[in-house]
Amino acid sequence: MSRLVVVSNRVADPRKAAAGGLAVALGDALNTAGGLWFGWSGTVIEGGAPGEGELHQQKAGTVTLATVDLCAEDHADYYLGYSNSVLWPVFHYRLDLARFDAGYFGAYRRVNRLFARQLLTLLRPDDIIWVHDYHLIPLADELRALGATQRIGFFLHVPLPPQQLLAAIPQHEWLMHALFAYDLVGFQSEADLENFSRYVRAEAGAEDLGDNYYKAFGRTVQAGAFPIGIDVDEFAALTHGKDAREMYERMKDEYSRRQLLLGVERLDYSKGLPQRLRAFKALLKKYPENLRSATLIQIASPSREAMDTYTDLLQELESLCGAINGDFGELDWMPVRYMHRNVARKRLPGLYRVARVALVTPLRDGMNLVAKEFIAAQDPADPGVLILSRFAGAAEQLKDALLVNPYDTDGMADTIQRALQMPLQERQARHQTLLKNIREQDVHWWRMTFLKALGAAARG
Ligand code: ADP
Repeated sequence: MSRLVVVSNRVADPRKAAAGGLAVALGDALNTAGGLWFGWSGTVIEGGAPGEGELHQQKAGTVTLATVDLCAEDHADYYLGYSNSVLWPVFHYRLDLARFDAGYFGAYRRVNRLFARQLLTLLRPDDIIWVHDYHLIPLADELRALGATQRIGFFLHVPLPPQQLLAAIPQHEWLMHALFAYDLVGFQSEADLENFSRYVRAEAGAEDLGDNYYKAFGRTVQAGAFPIGIDVDEFAALTHGKDAREMYERMKDEYSRRQLLLGVERLDYSKGLPQRLRAFKALLKKYPENLRSATLIQIASPSREAMDTYTDLLQELESLCGAINGDFGELDWMPVRYMHRNVARKRLPGLYRVARVALVTPLRDGMNLVAKEFIAAQDPADPGVLILSRFAGAAEQLKDALLVNPYDTDGMADTIQRALQMPLQERQARHQTLLKNIREQDVHWWRMTFLKALGAAARG
């Protein structure tokens, strides 16, 4: 049996529950054949040399965690720069927020080369390599240049934008060319796959060989849509655990008389937070019966705080929340409770379960796992309602959620009102179908489907 090698920007110890769903899911696969997980150590070396980084190895059960340090310049230009100031905004359709600094691209290549060089020393001939996400698009190309012949698959966790947006990245051809060094390229949704197919046909004259095989740049690659899921059983177990139950009990008393709406995410401009707050404000104005009752708990965890776009967003949110509470609040009721922090993963399901409505309304999202976690945490006898942006990858699967356009403030307010008034029978019926969806295509299904396709992909 081949060993699995997972490569991602950050490496997590799969034995720790706090590591989250992906680490747990990949941990299963890594454990089976004593795998290797490779990536950045999270350590930044001040004054280190660009393109250089020490390799560390550590055992986590049967899994080897291999990590490389980055110097401060590479961290700034590869991670904050090319990855998060070019690829992240453009892949989330935000050309206006992209910064095409020439130095960024050099660092992106340099770090991918460094990773390839270090990883190569650890590889065995029959390893299966699975590379994750936008930080590492050229990794297979760099590995191939060093002589690696192993099977290598790539999964893009974020969306792939349409050709006309992608083409704004000065190195777009280079990036897409690099994808053809993989044996299999996976996307979150059919829409992303369609964007890939259009791009390679229009910009690279790719031949569609059928079965999602494309030939371009003298190479052949297979592409596919593999929507990521959550570990539904693990999440259900968390929901019934002590911490989540305590959270639920504590909140239930307070919200038995009020209707709780919930938003949980990283504080990121892709998540549509200001748009959501404006819709909530419109709800209070248009449907005043919700005054003193509907309460929005918005939890936004700190993210990429070294970047201006993120600190600007933080200020915008604080000011919007303050204005809504100032305009509509009463001595004994505040419409918005906003928290800029993380909730412990063990307690989160308790919060999901007490909410009447979840607002998952990103402007653009590869998948969105919060939507799936919310479904998994509900009480089937009295489930909450999921309001989901049509622009989240999850909307392709979760058709029984109430789908909204997050740019349409008034429409979103109407949908929230509908959710708050939804009869029990309809809530149950929708939840039943949604739960079936997330069970059928859970994270284990995702991992096995991708790895099976990678194992079967025709070479060359
Ligand atoms: P993204 O990967 O863009 O952050 P996802 O919705 O796909 O978005 O995944 C987010 C993960 O992080 C989920 O597992 C969610 O539970 C967790 N998470 C997001 N925000 C918070 C928060 N404020 N506190 C705790 N966990 C959070």
